[in-house]
Amino acid sequence: MPDNDQNKNQSVPRTTTTDAGIPATSDEYSLSVGPDGPLLLQDHYLIQKMAQFNRERVPERVVHAKGSGAFGYFEVTADVTPWTKAAFLNKVGKRTTVLARFSTVAGELGSADTQRDPRGFALKFYTEEGNYDLVGNNTPIFFIRDPSKFADFIHSQKRMPDTDMRSHNAMWDFWSLSPEALHQVAFLMSDRGTPKSYRHMNGYGSHTFMWVNAAGERFWVKYHFKTEQGIQNFTDAEATAMTAQDPDYHRRDLHDAIARNEFPAWRLEMQIMPFEDAANYRFNPFDLTKVWPHSDYPPITIGRLVLDRNPENFFAEIEQASFEPANMVPGIGTSPDKMLLGRLFSYPDAHRHRIGTNYLQLPVNQPQSEVHSYNKDGGMRYRHNGNQPVYAPNSYSGPQADSSLGEASWSTSGELVRSAYTLHAEDNDFIQAGNLYRHILDKTGRDHLVSNIVGHMSQGVERFVQERAVNLWRKVDSNFGERIAQGLGIAAPTTVGDD
Ligand code: NDP
Repeated sequence: MPDNDQNKNQSVPRTTTTDAGIPATSDEYSLSVGPDGPLLLQDHYLIQKMAQFNRERVPERVVHAKGSGAFGYFEVTADVTPWTKAAFLNKVGKRTTVLARFSTVAGELGSADTQRDPRGFALKFYTEEGNYDLVGNNTPIFFIRDPSKFADFIHSQKRMPDTDMRSHNAMWDFWSLSPEALHQVAFLMSDRGTPKSYRHMNGYGSHTFMWVNAAGERFWVKYHFKTEQGIQNFTDAEATAMTAQDPDYHRRDLHDAIARNEFPAWRLEMQIMPFEDAANYRFNPFDLTKVWPHSDYPPITIGRLVLDRNPENFFAEIEQASFEPANMVPGIGTSPDKMLLGRLFSYPDAHRHRIGTNYLQLPVNQPQSEVHSYNKDGGMRYRHNGNQPVYAPNSYSGPQADSSLGEASWSTSGELVRSAYTLHAEDNDFIQAGNLYRHILDKTGRDHLVSNIVGHMSQGVERFVQERAVNLWRKVDSNFGERIAQGLGIAAPTTVGDD
């Protein structure tokens, strides 16, 4: 930051000033009436220090509060112009500056990095067409498929109103009443729920997005950032031990690796579905609780993400960083994924509350392209376009929108309803979780998954909730469910709460 740079390498220290730049007369002593006397209201410097200190914190994020980040670049390694016209992706070899922020989800600002949790994987691409934000996780799926359940889901994961402690009973109560959560819960309870570091995990855009090429052709896409460091996870015991040993373990690992010039990198692979496939795909391709099997849409490598620069000021550049899935550049758009559509609102709304109306004017958030917006004023605004027209249309050469850019759109019709998605032939909440257990995890992975679930469900979860959850695990895979039942001492299948 400029202020730090000014102070570096000064053989004679500069004079302390107030924040208004007025020289201060003491760094140590308040102004008092005699050495033992009362303090004075006119000691503006003291009052400014105390008042400013009281305001040092902005509210922490409700979710993803504990995070770490770094800067770097994204480089295009394959021609993607057949699928998208996004300018930052339009040439092999092109590089775009990126900010990445990794995080846990449920813990607070000071919580331990290594707790079992999904990890946020948020990227901001500073493109020539404005900021493109891809706000993903280290899992390709999520617990729910409708934003109406998001606040309830998070409430079940965070601290309870009476005890102010987290409740495994609440977590399993919600999950066992939400069968769509099982696939993500299986990921979470597997060893991927305790990654060894942020460098050793994949990142996924998770949602289905739209790409549009220069000819206006549309595609549905999924992003997979594959770690070049290799996947490495802690066991449950190792992760638990590390929460005590070094709560900032992941933050330290990321910072120190970059400081050692060991720059972490990820390969970007895309799954690309022709627009027309979606309607009759065997399951709903916009359902965030499901992956697209690789055999259906093989991932195609198109680029590389490298992180090579630590932040200079954590608060200014990481704590105040604001990512919003709604930031999409021409050639990239939304999809009927309801969770994505809900997030388009909730992220910028959270930033306005947490950081302030003009959060996009902070250096870390402002685009590197020019801004010609008719939005004006509001708290802390300092960038403006001078005396240009403040309304559109106008007769005075104000900026004009470019309708030729078009919308990334799809057609739809129907009554206004509150319902699940239109059913596809193979929509099912259990098949993919079962495939993970049966086909992807090796024996050790399966053993750890079972013991992690049994351990987690053994901590204060009521019997009827355990039984309901076990019934769902049996539907995922009968052998898997039986192993969990045995671990919990549940002898035989039960019908309590079975749906
Ligand atoms: P594939 O065999 O083609 O792909 C399975 C993928 O699973 C791998 O490519 C790898 O993806 C991921 N994987 C490997 N080991 C683990 C692990 N220990 N824990 C979690 N994921 C792992 O099969 P499908 O595409 O048909 O998917 C089968 C199941 O695999 C899915 O139901 C899902 O549970 C899981 N999966 C699928 C992904 C997808 O996008 N299709 C992605 C991740 C998991 P990666 O390189 O991304 O880690």
